[in-house]
Amino acid sequence: MRSDIRAVAVFCGANTGVRPAHKAAAVALGTALAKAGIRLVYGGGRVGLMGALANATLAAGGAVTGVIPDFLRKWEVANEDLSGPSELEVVASMHERKQRMCELADGFVMLPGGLGTLDETIEIITWRQLKLHDKPVVLCDVDGSAAPLLALIEAAIADGFARSEVRRLYRVARKVEEVIGLLEHAQAAQGGAIRLA
Ligand code: AMP
Repeated sequence: MRSDIRAVAVFCGANTGVRPAHKAAAVALGTALAKAGIRLVYGGGRVGLMGALANATLAAGGAVTGVIPDFLRKWEVANEDLSGPSELEVVASMHERKQRMCELADGFVMLPGGLGTLDETIEIITWRQLKLHDKPVVLCDVDGSAAPLLALIEAAIADGFARSEVRRLYRVARKVEEVIGLLEHAQAAQGGAIRLA
């Protein structure tokens, strides 16, 4: 078991989406992180699932680090009030945001979201494949929301563009309650067995 999960970066929608279960999952994960004493690292906005997630962590007494590019502060309604153990980091670019979130977190979680969420999730998985980090990644399959992404990865494997070992780069949680356990019990290093070709 990894006891080194002190901060978790969560990728999720800047919109709330249309399914109540998706917002409920964001609130449940935000609350669970606070109760486990795990810092939430997220995109720093007040909007959408991102905002619901961070509000839930704060409401449950948890600590939050928001990382937002300067140009998005207005658009994503940056949580400028974060203080005390919580903080807002303003960075220069999307790339810097992803890099910083990767540095700050001991593990990563995908909740439902749009293109930005998909981008961030795929990138953090590929960074693990490239051994740029070896931190656990959990895809939270709220209401089957992760199924299309998993199908895309399976298609890449079937077509010979990815090795079957890439499945070991992430774990799938069927519900929010499984997420923290999967992060804490993740196998380190994936055996170093991921070959790129
Ligand atoms: P979305 O899933 O599209 O609602 O976006 C969720 C979050 O991902 C938002 O904070 C976006 O600013 C962010 N995002 C969108 N595109 C990118 C990108 N290319 N790199 C990093 N973050 C992104």
